[in-house]
Amino acid sequence: MRTRLDISCPPIGRAALPLGLACLALLHAGPAVTWLPPVRRRLPSIAGVGDPGHVALTFDDGPHPGSTPHFLDELGRLGCHATFFVLGELLERHEWLGRRIVAEGHELAVHGWRHGNPLLAPPGRLTAEIGRTADLVRAVGGRATWYRPPYGALSLEALLAARLRGLRPVLWTVWGRDWEAAATPGSVLATVAAGLRGGATVLLHDSDHASVPGSWRPALDALPALVERCRVMGLRVGPLREHGIAFP
Ligand SMILES: [Zn+2]
Repeated sequence: MRTRLDISCPPIGRAALPLGLACLALLHAGPAVTWLPPVRRRLPSIAGVGDPGHVALTFDDGPHPGSTPHFLDELGRLGCHATFFVLGELLERHEWLGRRIVAEGHELAVHGWRHGNPLLAPPGRLTAEIGRTADLVRAVGGRATWYRPPYGALSLEALLAARLRGLRPVLWTVWGRDWEAAATPGSVLATVAAGLRGGATVLLHDSDHASVPGSWRPALDALPALVERCRVMGLRVGPLREHGIAFP
């Protein structure tokens, strides 16, 4: 059965080899176009568009003992829950932190085993690593419902591996550019606020594992004003499990 990911390619013969390789590359990287904002707007479930009365709060790149506990403390003060897209290699080192995330009512989700670009992974690696991370998330008490690839680069193998493991791919509708060296709490808030509306999925980072050291602080310091802004707009703030995303 053909799907919208099914791309027609000619048979790979000697003369057609370069074209065939190009088609294979397109098949591998094709789903990654979901990263592009115009494409995400046309694929609302992948982008994370949900309940118009709700905003999903999501964090990537943890768990890290130097930063994630500060986010958990702040979320506790604010009285809201979030979804944490974790890296397996960090969760393996800090399982206690994964258990704390779950115990405090938040959601663990799969970001990958390591923070590599899925489009550059050798065949088979993503399938193994997504499965390994999902197993670990479930071993520490999480449900592992969601998958978000590093850099939002959704390769065909990653998409198939996620589906095989019962994970739903979801990216984001708005981010805070909190990983940038020049980010401040004000810049993070302004960047998110520009795209903040009911049904939004907000991407922030609870760790500087894949960005400049200390880059998690502006996101942490922006949190109270961000949550307050949502509430003033009459929007509930919570994890993806409460976001009501309609998947086909
Ligand atoms: Zn990431």
